Amino acid sequence: DKNIHFFSQIDVIPKKIDPELLGIRGRQANEFAELGFPILPGFIIDSQLAADLDETDIKKDIKQMLDKCAGIVGKSYGDPENPMLVKIVISSNLAVSNYPTLHNFGLVKPTIPGFAKWVGKTFAANEVLFLVRGMLKIEEQIMEFKGLTAERKKILDQLKALGKEISSDRPSKDAEAIMDRYAPFLPSGYFDSADGQLMLTLKEISKLLSMDDQNDRDTALMIQPMVYGNYGKDSCSGNFFSRNVVTGEKKLQGEFYREKFNEIGATGQGIEKIGPNHLKELQRIAWTLEDRFKEIRQVRFTVENGKLWLIEQRLVDQKSTQADIRLLLDLAKRKIVDNAYVVKAIEPLRLNEILHPIIDTPSIKGLKNWSGGIAGAPGAAIGRAYFTTDGLLEARKLAMQKGEDDRFILVMPSTFAEDVKAIEVSTGVLSCEGGFSAHASVVARQYGKVSLVAPAMSIKGKKATLGNISFSEGDYITINVPYYGESTVYLGTAKLIEPNPSESGLLEFIGITKSFIKEFHVRANAESPKDALLALSFGAEGIGLCRTEHMFFGAERINVFREMILSNSPQERKKALDKLRPMQRNDFYGIFKAMAGKEVTIRLMDAPLHEFLPHNNDELTAFIKYLEKSKKTKVAKADIVAAIDSLEEFNPMLGHRGCRIAVSYPEIYAMQVQAIFEAVYKLKSEKVDVRPEIMVPIVMNSSELKLIAYGKKIEGTSYTGIVDVEEKLRAEKKAKAVPYQIGTMIELPAAALGAGDIAKYGQFFSFGTNDLTQTTLGISRDDFTGFMPDYTLFDLIIGNPFSTLDPRVKELIALAVERGRLTRPDLVCGLCGEHGANPGNVRFCMDAGLNYVSCSSYSVPIALLAVAQAEL
Ligand code: PEP
Ligand code: MG
Repeated sequence: DKNIHFFSQIDVIPKKIDPELLGIRGRQANEFAELGFPILPGFIIDSQLAADLDETDIKKDIKQMLDKCAGIVGKSYGDPENPMLVKIVISSNLAVSNYPTLHNFGLVKPTIPGFAKWVGKTFAANEVLFLVRGMLKIEEQIMEFKGLTAERKKILDQLKALGKEISSDRPSKDAEAIMDRYAPFLPSGYFDSADGQLMLTLKEISKLLSMDDQNDRDTALMIQPMVYGNYGKDSCSGNFFSRNVVTGEKKLQGEFYREKFNEIGATGQGIEKIGPNHLKELQRIAWTLEDRFKEIRQVRFTVENGKLWLIEQRLVDQKSTQADIRLLLDLAKRKIVDNAYVVKAIEPLRLNEILHPIIDTPSIKGLKNWSGGIAGAPGAAIGRAYFTTDGLLEARKLAMQKGEDDRFILVMPSTFAEDVKAIEVSTGVLSCEGGFSAHASVVARQYGKVSLVAPAMSIKGKKATLGNISFSEGDYITINVPYYGESTVYLGTAKLIEPNPSESGLLEFIGITKSFIKEFHVRANAESPKDALLALSFGAEGIGLCRTEHMFFGAERINVFREMILSNSPQERKKALDKLRPMQRNDFYGIFKAMAGKEVTIRLMDAPLHEFLPHNNDELTAFIKYLEKSKKTKVAKADIVAAIDSLEEFNPMLGHRGCRIAVSYPEIYAMQVQAIFEAVYKLKSEKVDVRPEIMVPIVMNSSELKLIAYGKKIEGTSYTGIVDVEEKLRAEKKAKAVPYQIGTMIELPAAALGAGDIAKYGQFFSFGTNDLTQTTLGISRDDFTGFMPDYTLFDLIIGNPFSTLDPRVKELIALAVERGRLTRPDLVCGLCGEHGANPGNVRFCMDAGLNYVSCSSYSVPIALLAVAQAEL
């Protein structure tokens, strides 16, 4: 019949046969044949014929095909001495198939003794059960399609009960008794002859396929001989990945089982122990497959009586990004693929995985632990457990003010919208309700946090119990949610291994990625020399945003800063600023030095002042103590409290922040500018190539920028601008001028609309899309996550506008770039809000004519990859 196709190590199904007709498994088998691999021979009844076997006489074809198989495997179908058995693979074009795979046809009363001679009676009896179980499933499915009358329902229930009975059957030695037990439920004469059994089976399956509307005549039947890893000496079976699916090391990863099948419970041996000859052949096969398909594959095989047979190959979906990257680098090195292929093959967000820390295994030794749960978001996290969002946020605030680098894990039965702000600042979430799609897991994945759902956990008050471990609020725990395998919660802190970009292949991958970057660049948001170095190692091409107010966090600095903002007079303020200046200068020095030869944008201070004030009594006391020491006099608490209260604002995000503070207190920016140039001149004297850019935040109109950049003299007073500070310092230091730029953030719709004017005074724009989104949509960036789920539910907004650029915001950006460049054609434009980290925004940024995006160091590789892919 023209719809039946034979394949083997030397027979390939002709190219003219539409591969769709073979189904996925059929195609994969044929791929092996094409490669000349020792595939089990077999034949495929293609999808045009498979559902019509009732009307077609294929007995002769089947016989002929079985004989061909027999000739290759050295056993023959129906032979009572050494019977060849066959399996039937129902091969559809769907990745997930509803149908069972059926094994052991040819096991009938006349062949049982012969088969048992080779494999033993118990095994033979079990193989009969295996056959019956598959067939009962088919009968069940047929029954379901027939539509259930009361009578059919009875039969169906009976079939289901039989299925359960089989699954729980003890090993028995009596194959014939098993046949007698189940024969009444199978087509009549089922165990009489091997030929009869196969035809009856094929017809039953064909009937099922013809009834299944969903199948839509899209399913083929593949018949192959069975081989057994316990059949004669030098027999085994096993499976392996073509390389390590976690590390990507080019070494087969898998196991094999001698004398046994790889059943649950059986312990296998590492595939490397299979013996040099088989191993060499398996390696050749694995790596040929990789070269051919350019991906990691999994292979199942059996060695029967010393002869190796490949059973099947699979795509591997449980593999790490690192494994894929190392495979691609390896293929590129051997010129199997070119660099463009490498860059296109990895989805940018997958890099997140390679950038996560993992547990350093020796460090968990001795830690009490509990294992289990459902992986919500992979990774490893350490933190202090907090059982409420408010509790966690409060603890974090305290830690930040003390300059402690604490980490937190939110532990709750389940989380809701109002908990997002805690998840956002935690390293992970441990919850007990739901699973992969629970709120906690979904949000954790969105924010790149670790999430574990442990239904076994009980929380009572401020204490959680998980099996035989328990922990209280504030205790450190470590959670490990690996990509594969079981998750674990440890009491205490383990060590994390920070990602190792050189070992993981990431650095090499970034290098290749960068070779495709042309005009459009990626910078990093970084606030310390350490951040800057990390950013650099991840491929950052400059710093697009250094938030200088973040440099004032920390136990030592925060009180000096408080002293500065609570000063009563310019003189007092100057004293405090003089203490802050060296701190900033040293940081700037480190950052500029790390970024030698690259642009570094320093943003002058932008924060509502009250954010920095003491928030509770302990902090207040500590601050007063500091003040008394600094001023060497007693300080009245009431005065300080009054001063703090006077800074309270109703709407701080729209209040006295950014350049507005500088308008009131020019000495703050003057101090910062001085610190910048002190660092610049020093580095210049050390022959370091410094490229400073000074950026003014929250600018609303050109007059603000003009004042802050260039100063102003009015009757009786004057305002010292950035250029004035620089000129004065340069004269004092007798330093040589270093080119620098002054620019502004565009974070208000008014600034975007007025970009033409603003560009007269700014040499560059950087779009602060966090604030620009907040002020364009009129939605608070800090409170939106609370009601976002409702907005998403009713499709009022697509995606999170604080991650995916809103169309109106895009319009403002495009318009501002255009207006700005009409005034200043060489205006450099970038984007430094969180949106820069989302690969989905990159194309727009390129099309809108921006020059770069700037994002957190960890997102730099992701953005670089998105840019490179857009360039290709
Ligand atoms: C912004 O508003 O997008 C921005 C980068 O500034 P910040 O987040 O510091 O307000
Ligand atoms: Mg901003």
